[in-house]
Amino acid sequence: MSDTDPRLRDIFEATAQAVIAHADELTELDAAIGDGDHGHNMKRGMQAVLDELDTLAAKPWDEALKAAGMQLVMKVGGASGPLYGTLFMTLGKSLDTPPTREGVAAALKAAIEAVMARGKATPGQKTMLDVLVPASEALAAGRPPAEVAEVAREACAATKDMLATKGRASFLGERSIGHIDPGARSSQILIETIAGKFGDVK
Ligand code: ADP
Ligand code: MG
Repeated sequence: MSDTDPRLRDIFEATAQAVIAHADELTELDAAIGDGDHGHNMKRGMQAVLDELDTLAAKPWDEALKAAGMQLVMKVGGASGPLYGTLFMTLGKSLDTPPTREGVAAALKAAIEAVMARGKATPGQKTMLDVLVPASEALAAGRPPAEVAEVAREACAATKDMLATKGRASFLGERSIGHIDPGARSSQILIETIAGKFGDVK
């Protein structure tokens, strides 16, 4: 079955490159409220995706997402590796190919639920979920990609004033307030890049 999509390579490449381009910023954010490895972790995972780009681009969307998720589990490490791995693998498992707007929204919802189960976390705890959940809800509500990206930007900025109650930042208690969550920022970068590329999905 030839259901490869020429956009897949471009989207994977742009997404990986966007995260890699922000690796230092992600590491600085994590140095403030964590252990300063989030940029390194994400860069390692996204470099693995770039290294596998030819293989990934030859697959249909669902298989490519599952394979990318496995790369992230193996290469990112930390708390975020298994969580981003779960996100991408469940997206792959849940997505119909070729992807439609409704299909992407439903798959993203399922993928985020899997991340919540895996990390035993809910929105409001100053994690990547505080970006992923509102962005996913905006997508499900039919808002256009540019608006989904804007929701993600605002949600990421809003993590600054939140108290971390999950993950390494929670060890800081009140001192976690006043810093953007590194995982929220990496999720926002992912969403912004993908939304930009999916501008034509109706
Ligand atoms: P580690 O905390 O092990 O060093 P990273 O620095 O790579 O891992 O990732 C930290 C990010 O992971 C946090 O900023 C947060 O967004 C996210 N995170 C941590 N724990 C959870 C969790 N249980 N659920 C969702 N996201 C989490
Ligand atoms: Mg860290």
